[in-house]
Amino acid sequence: MNALIVIPAAVVAVGAAWWLFRPKASQAPARKEEPMQSWTVTSVSRETPSAVSFEVDSSLDFQAGQFVLLRPSKDMPWRAYSFSRAPGQPLRLTVKKVEGGAVSTYITERLAAGDKLDVKGPFGQFVLPSGIGHALLLAGGSGITPMLAFVHDLAAKGWPTKVTLVFANRSKSEQILRAELDELASKSDGKLTIIHVLDDGSEGVKGPMTPDVVATVLEGVAAPDVVALCGPTGMMESCHAEVSKRFATAKILEEKFTAVVASVGADAIAHEVEVVDEGKSKTFAVREGETVLQGARRAKVNLSSGCESGVCGTCRVKMLRGQIETPDESCLTAEERAEGYALVCIGKVKAPCGFEPKPE
Ligand SMILES: Cc1cc2nc3c(=O)[nH]c(=O)nc-3n(C[C@H](O)[C@H](O)[C@H](O)COP(=O)(O)OP(=O)(O)OC[C@H]3O[C@@H](n4cnc5c(N)ncnc54)[C@H](O)[C@@H]3O)c2cc1C
Repeated sequence: MNALIVIPAAVVAVGAAWWLFRPKASQAPARKEEPMQSWTVTSVSRETPSAVSFEVDSSLDFQAGQFVLLRPSKDMPWRAYSFSRAPGQPLRLTVKKVEGGAVSTYITERLAAGDKLDVKGPFGQFVLPSGIGHALLLAGGSGITPMLAFVHDLAAKGWPTKVTLVFANRSKSEQILRAELDELASKSDGKLTIIHVLDDGSEGVKGPMTPDVVATVLEGVAAPDVVALCGPTGMMESCHAEVSKRFATAKILEEKFTAVVASVGADAIAHEVEVVDEGKSKTFAVREGETVLQGARRAKVNLSSGCESGVCGTCRVKMLRGQIETPDESCLTAEERAEGYALVCIGKVKAPCGFEPKPE
């Protein structure tokens, strides 16, 4: 008799708990996302007048070529930074100041040992496949960071892959971690070859990396299995064009540090986009051809963003009406895709729409 009473009571209790804590329509479905971490900076070293490296107290597991999102405080935006060492080495990030840039200026001018950083990640698919014979790495400026992770990783593994690294800079004083690269090359038993390109012509090939210069640099470089590109947009475009012409069978990997901002004229067709955040509604115009994030920035509407290349998912939003066309949804879970989530950093609109920003 007692059992008959206890069982329905338990069922009622479970049912009530489910009702109280049931997923609400506006909540993000569970993601396999690492929780936010807090790192402490253990040391900061100046690499060039505009770049610093810093080490942190974390032992995060990652793959060479990946990045994290970090912010030095809650009131600063998230930014992506790649590891400049391999997994298993003390964690290090290397940041170059972007003139007028919020986070890079803070890091290169004010970051000190003992400071805390909010961190999310690791993220990214800019990873060298294993079992390849020859990799061609083309880096410009701060684009050397993931390449450093690759070469440290290959050195630690006894150089299973031969590497040709092309490193382009304006002048010698801007070459980040040059001495470390020289040491890696000198201990590689000929497996790592470095070609320097300097705009001032003081060493190696004279830059900048225009299509003609890229063609000269690649003259005599053996056909690679994989080509990895990371640098300023113009350099990446020249390299991509020349590499695909010259090494048609090579797999090309690209990491874009700067969001590609479409230049769309004020006369382009614009659509009204509504953002509903905690019940408050704002509208702004997004022009056809530009990303929703670009339109929001122009209208001074603040939307969360991270890598700005559709990889980290920080900028995901839930559609309430209409559509944001997201060219690559691979960072969204199947559940999120089914529920109509979109990414504003790479997503574009062709009609009016409305969305809620991702709940934190
Ligand atoms: C996957 C990935 C990995 C990366 N790894 C590294 C790395 O290892 N090392 C590294 O140094 N960088 C890296 N970056 C670049 C880094 O994420 C930042 O983009 C860079 O540090 C600039 O950030 P910031 O906050 O200083 O500049 P921002 O404040 O974003 O400014 C960038 C530029 O935009 C201009 N700007 C800013 N706001 C406005 C506005 N309202 N109107 C007009 N112009 C404006 C600024 O003047 C500046 O020129 C990486 C990027 C990605 C996507």
